[in-house]
Amino acid sequence: MSNLVSRLWSIAENTPERIALRDQSRTITYGQLREQIASTADHYSSIGVRRDDRVVFIAPSIPEFVVTYYALHALGATVITMNVMSTRPEIDYVVGDSGATTLIAWHECADALRGVADDRGLTFVAVAPLALGAEEESHHDSARSAAVADAYVDRSDDDVAMVLYTSGTTGRPKGAALTVSNINAIPDAFRPALKLTPDDRWATALPLFHCFGQGVVMHTALSFGCSLSLLSPFTPNGFMDMLRDHHTTIACGVPTMWNAMLQAADDRSPDDFASLRLACSGGAALPAEVIRAFSEQFGATILEGYGLTETAGTATFHNLDRGPKVATVGSALPGFSVEARDTDGHRVPEGEVGEIFISGPTVMRGYWNRPDATATTLVDGWLATGDLGTIDADGDIRIVDRTKDLIIRGGYNVYPREVEEILYEHPDIVEVAVIGVPHAHYGEEVAAVIAPRPGATIDTDALRTWAKERLSAYKVPRIFTFVDELPKGATGKILKRAIDRDSVGAVT
Ligand code: ATP
Repeated sequence: MSNLVSRLWSIAENTPERIALRDQSRTITYGQLREQIASTADHYSSIGVRRDDRVVFIAPSIPEFVVTYYALHALGATVITMNVMSTRPEIDYVVGDSGATTLIAWHECADALRGVADDRGLTFVAVAPLALGAEEESHHDSARSAAVADAYVDRSDDDVAMVLYTSGTTGRPKGAALTVSNINAIPDAFRPALKLTPDDRWATALPLFHCFGQGVVMHTALSFGCSLSLLSPFTPNGFMDMLRDHHTTIACGVPTMWNAMLQAADDRSPDDFASLRLACSGGAALPAEVIRAFSEQFGATILEGYGLTETAGTATFHNLDRGPKVATVGSALPGFSVEARDTDGHRVPEGEVGEIFISGPTVMRGYWNRPDATATTLVDGWLATGDLGTIDADGDIRIVDRTKDLIIRGGYNVYPREVEEILYEHPDIVEVAVIGVPHAHYGEEVAAVIAPRPGATIDTDALRTWAKERLSAYKVPRIFTFVDELPKGATGKILKRAIDRDSVGAVT
């Protein structure tokens, strides 16, 4: 059998008692996980799920997600995971675009998906909590699951294993078609980068429907026999308790999670995190101040990586031996190449800003059903990322910003990330998003939307003076708006497009 399940299967075969999954109350061994996957695959096979069928699947980050995900891959289905918050029209669009025939959802968040299935006359399955008791085990002995496993399909490396839809900032969502070899290349890239051993204990509260939680965390941990602790939903104290109680060695999250943990960590003892050797951050820019404060508070280094849904979440990572080179996302992982190019497609000189292009084993096959979008995004096997960045002499990459977030004020380029980095150094600022707002004379003006530390009052004039001492005049925000919290997407990333620009204030 060769598919996304093969590695997990042989770990279960050789070390069935090894712990695979934990949540706040359950512990599941690789042997039990295999049994659960086998019986679930058996069930889906009996209702007609076949190789290459598209199946839309929605569930939070719980062990049931893992079981359903691998059961579908065992049958050779093409899996489309979606956000648990997805609305009925959003699901309907993805179901129509992908041609999905079976829709599966965790029973507590099934309404929208069930509604779409009813409208379209498609098969719908509600996922129930796993039955892990003795009675269940007697039903699914190894001989039986081995027999079921014989029915699993062999997939070729080029088969489309996943279609992951991007959030569609620039139009309708596009499905990144990721092949079996794209997904299996993720663990291979991360194993040396993280110096992984089967004794590593991972923990995450990332959504598993997204490439970061799914490929980089879940598939990597379970491909090498590590344990994976899942928390859903994320709370800073819940996650810190999990790191302590599960003796976590590798924690994975996005910058807003580290930041929230730092705000809540005052009464924690450093002993709580004694086993933590690494925190892996990705998905959005990690402010230097957070790296510094995290290592002071938690005694562990945050290493940062960079990737997109279109590269299965993977492309670069900090070098574990060298430690984090602050303000960079590390260098290309083995087997990957990264270039910064100008608008004519030529490589820009070292240190100059260009659009980041990536080639490597996780670069998608293309967008599902979108040859036009594929043709503009994939050029000779290189993915145009839409991110602006520089590459230094060591090959370390600095993501300057997204092309679409760039602010052009009076002809000068202002990279919001640079301004945010500075504002994060202010002791009373917890979160900040810098955006451009329309301006009659300059075209755009720089605005900072700030969530202050609870209880702190920030004087705008004093803040502007503080910023002027650190930034060139044209980069200093002319508008400061204060909010309790910034809008965030399902992955915990700050969602700039969800900021109500009218409330930020017009400038004339
Ligand atoms: P959409 O692209 O549709 O808006 P999205 O941003 O959620 O949705 P993802 O594929 O999840 O799509 O995110 C990829 C983007 O996240 C990258 O293009 C980049 O802008 C940003 N990103 C990822 N990792 C980092 C990082 N370490 N530093 C800075 N930016 C990052």
